Amino acid sequence: MTEYGAQYVGRFAPSPSGPLHFGSLLAAVASYAQTLVNEGLWLLRIEDIDPPREQAGSDKLILDALTHCGFEWDGPLLYQSTCTSRHLALVEHLVEQGLAYPCTCSRRDLAEVPRGTLGAIYPGTCRNGCGTGDVAIRLLTDDTLLEFTDVLQGRQSQRLQIESGDFVIRRRDGLVAYHLAVVVDDSDQGISEIVRGFDLLDSTLRHIHLQRVLGFSTPNYLHIPIAINNEGQKLSKLTGATGIDTNRPARLLFSALEALGQHPPNELAEASTTEVWQWVRQNWTVAPLGSLTELPAGQFGFD
Ligand code: GLU
Ligand code: ZN
Repeated sequence: MTEYGAQYVGRFAPSPSGPLHFGSLLAAVASYAQTLVNEGLWLLRIEDIDPPREQAGSDKLILDALTHCGFEWDGPLLYQSTCTSRHLALVEHLVEQGLAYPCTCSRRDLAEVPRGTLGAIYPGTCRNGCGTGDVAIRLLTDDTLLEFTDVLQGRQSQRLQIESGDFVIRRRDGLVAYHLAVVVDDSDQGISEIVRGFDLLDSTLRHIHLQRVLGFSTPNYLHIPIAINNEGQKLSKLTGATGIDTNRPARLLFSALEALGQHPPNELAEASTTEVWQWVRQNWTVAPLGSLTELPAGQFGFD
């Protein structure tokens, strides 16, 4: 049981880097639908801890789009930036325990290191001390075979030491890294089920490693396919994904449901959002998604 007294606590955690696009809508719909069928709670958290990547006002655009589409979140809306002192205290605690350490390596220092599927594999240069200057903080990893089973994508395993190496939990610019913030806030908010895009699947074992080190429990994970454009790129602000038009929210939700492998009846596209969510409550199942990892957004009229 969580502090909210529910067994199932889901969430949607958008970064305010631009308006809600079709890909982020799919994550919101899948997460909300899973919560509805499990009669759980659904929390909303704006992950605003990376100002260089943010776009002023996009939090409002996201909230507005969600409201238009009839999403209803439980409890107060959380802005992740309000948790920064908690995040930094935990980083410091990990350093004091010898589980994390300062690193002065610059991007250039790491340019030549081997790269794995998770990016540059940090070779541990600063494990036994580093120079002075701006420091990042890295979390120690080891060669334990870490594993978990994703609800859709099945069994996943990684040995972090050889796949990512010790990874950054506080950046050189002083900002808290996404991996740390997401793990701490999901735990503090009592999240039991994480539904998000496939692009985050390979971060999950770093999250599970952090949960173990911090003594947190591990939620269930379900990674849905990501929406891609005609060039095969993930829809994002970088690829110029357009914000969704919420003038006809039921039609929009209808397209999202179809993309997610559901078979909503045609008349639902003209219904109210309340009726759409009622249908979802009675009919949603993740099964049709199988282990699909990508969805061509163009097929549903989005880019
Ligand atoms: N804030 C992240 C994003 O918008 C998602 C984090 C998560 O769901 O774990 O890409
Ligand atoms: Zn270093």
